[in-house]
Amino acid sequence: MQRLRKNLNRYCGDPIDIDATLADIRTAAAQHGFASETFYGEPDRQVELFALHRPAAAGTAGVRRVYISSGIHGDEPAGPLAVRQLLQDNRWPPALELWICPCLNPVGFRMNSRENASGVDLNRQYREPRAAEIRAHIAWLDRQPSFDLCLMLHEDWESDGFYLYEQNPDGRRSPAAEMIERVSSVCPIDRNEMIEGRPARDGVVRANIDPNDRPEWPEAFYLITRKTRLSYTLEAPSDYLMEVRVAALVTAVNTAVEMIAVEGDGT
Ligand SMILES: [Zn+2]
Repeated sequence: MQRLRKNLNRYCGDPIDIDATLADIRTAAAQHGFASETFYGEPDRQVELFALHRPAAAGTAGVRRVYISSGIHGDEPAGPLAVRQLLQDNRWPPALELWICPCLNPVGFRMNSRENASGVDLNRQYREPRAAEIRAHIAWLDRQPSFDLCLMLHEDWESDGFYLYEQNPDGRRSPAAEMIERVSSVCPIDRNEMIEGRPARDGVVRANIDPNDRPEWPEAFYLITRKTRLSYTLEAPSDYLMEVRVAALVTAVNTAVEMIAVEGDGT
């Protein structure tokens, strides 16, 4: 599997029709019993941010709460496409209660740009949010219960393969190695010893960063501080074919949710 060598200083691969993708996502979600809640809307710029929620199957024991987000960077199209596939496949373990934000930056996708229409990187807005859409997202998050697992779907335009960031401050049982193992059958893994300036091992970056030392917070820092004790930022390599990147993210999500559901079972 070869890199395409298209990306030069930024993502230069195929963009997606985000509005068609989100329409597909809404259709699949409604078919499979998800409720949809709009938490931010801008009629003039046609921005609507929404969250999907599905309770666990009735009568299941050991319910685990899982949050998934995607599309905060508008030049990382495999994330929303992976969410679409996951919803269409609908192979979630029954004991999962799910919250999904399929796309946090639809304007960015229409421009094929990382930032929003005002040039703001929304994934640096979670400590002192000024962007209205992130204020609304945080207000929505604050209305939800805590999560057993958070998964954020991203892409990296310069990486040699799939990798992930783990935040697991309590040393809980980690699905990271299994995610890498299963993704390796559909996508190359970035096995460099340094990734984005941080020590990495077999595609896993466990950065010991105290969020309080960082002036600008990504979504992951907000979640680990306020909403969860286990979070993964999944990075597909966007210099590969789209189907490879989508398969990588879908496989990683399926692996993590299966492992957390089994844990909830007590088996
Ligand atoms: Zn990203």
